[in-house]
Amino acid sequence: MPSFRSATLQLKRRLGARVVFTGEAALFAASFDSSKISFLPAAVIKPRKEADIGVALQLAHKYRVPVTVRGRGTTLMGSAAPVHGGWVIDMLALNRIQIDTEAGMATVQAGAKVADIQRAAEAQGWFYPPDPSSKEYCTIGGNIACNAGGMHGGKYGVTRDFIIALRGFMASGDYVEWGTATKKFSAGFNLRDLWIGSEGMLGIVTGAVLKLIPQPAARWTLLTSYRNEAAALRAALALFRQRVQPAICEFLDRESVRCAERATKTTVFPGQAGRPVILLEFTGSAAEVRETKAVVLAWAKKNAAGHRVARSRAEAETLWAVRRKCSGAMFELGDAKLNEDIVVPMRNYLNFIKFLSGLKRRSGLPIPTFGHLADGNLHVNIMYHRANRQESHAAEVAVNELMRTVVKLGGAISGEHGIGLAKTPFLRVQHRAAQVKAMRAVKDALDPRGILNPGKMFEPVRIWKYPKLAVHLPWDHK
Ligand SMILES: Cc1cc2nc3c(=O)[nH]c(=O)nc-3n(C[C@H](O)[C@H](O)[C@H](O)COP(=O)(O)OP(=O)(O)OC[C@H]3O[C@@H](n4cnc5c(N)ncnc54)[C@H](O)[C@@H]3O)c2cc1C
Repeated sequence: MPSFRSATLQLKRRLGARVVFTGEAALFAASFDSSKISFLPAAVIKPRKEADIGVALQLAHKYRVPVTVRGRGTTLMGSAAPVHGGWVIDMLALNRIQIDTEAGMATVQAGAKVADIQRAAEAQGWFYPPDPSSKEYCTIGGNIACNAGGMHGGKYGVTRDFIIALRGFMASGDYVEWGTATKKFSAGFNLRDLWIGSEGMLGIVTGAVLKLIPQPAARWTLLTSYRNEAAALRAALALFRQRVQPAICEFLDRESVRCAERATKTTVFPGQAGRPVILLEFTGSAAEVRETKAVVLAWAKKNAAGHRVARSRAEAETLWAVRRKCSGAMFELGDAKLNEDIVVPMRNYLNFIKFLSGLKRRSGLPIPTFGHLADGNLHVNIMYHRANRQESHAAEVAVNELMRTVVKLGGAISGEHGIGLAKTPFLRVQHRAAQVKAMRAVKDALDPRGILNPGKMFEPVRIWKYPKLAVHLPWDHK
């Protein structure tokens, strides 16, 4: 890996030793994200003000130094790992949050933690719905860069649906603003939306104006269980046909339920052991929720094997906590996981679940699956043991089959995590050559020297072949 010594010396001179770090510990900490694949950078920049980023990028552009920006490093896709070394910009110190109570907007810096934004909005009676399970750790900049979703996606949408304006820096170091804090903006090309989901490859976001909506006055939570996975999906489709829109509609297959139960030492649904479940939440005015309750209870009686209403917010929270633990809980089934956040169109739910049970059988691997039924974003977790060559090979075959099938069914290889490194072998399964060519042309136009997060998206990398660090991250289950 090139050392970029003279550029780094100039960077230190310009920004100072309280902003630029080259010590071993700082470099190691910035060398990996949640994928735990490590590539050492030459320096870590911890900007104290947004303008520091402009200075760093001007130098990086001049000396062709790769720059990888990172929020909290919770991405599972390897997208924040500095594959080509160079400089890492750590955004965590830029974390201001300001709520505009009249306009219903939040003006935030990119390093602000998503849960802090939600709490600040809630304190003023406003609601910021996108809620990745990692929200107590991840930053809004990371959410914008990955177009993060979460359990609220079906009713409220994803990060993209809540971005009013963005500001930040181009690869050249030039400062730009895409939109302003107004609800309407129709002046020129929409580069704001091009930055959303661009994984730090088209520009660096330093701040955003977010749309807020009024806090719903009432919430109602219901847990339902089913004979098998197909019955659960059929029931969900029957609910949607009645034009009922749950704020959250989370499906856990049998394997996921078992893992969550063992990890939390609680029974998800007493009396319904070993059954897949759907956890539902309905929000709205008190009158709306009352009306919905009647319809939903009738639906549950007809379609579910069992149902249980949460009697209090605390009880509902316990159920959600079990769901949030799901992903980490799976490591009892293997020490490695191919965590795929695919999307399946509703019309193909039943075809997909049939395919999945065949895939489990053919691969011989546990593949616990859970996810957001109101938007088709399912988390398919292919579990295996890294040291077991047969299992590793079976996992690789299974993930290939999964991706090809999802696209054939009209779905997407990623609904919220993005491409990063992990999904690079499948970019061309999703996109035709002309589409990839157009994306590359955009990249070349906005980052002509290819310094922003190089090595991602376009070059296929089989991430599962890389050695993983044995480090424990705060959001890891064990
Ligand atoms: C336990 C767990 C649960 C998760 N649950 C969900 C979930 O429910 N939904 C979901 O969508 N994701 C989920 N994720 C994935 C992850 O949390 C999200 O992708 C999140 O958006 C990453 O935010 P971050 O601040 O950690 O960004 P990082 O991981 O640091 O970076 C992610 C990408 O964003 C880029 N980036 C970061 N900041 C900026 C910036 N300011 N400007 C430009 N680019 C930037 C980076 O270069 C990188 O490409 C989960 C992860 C874990 C570990």
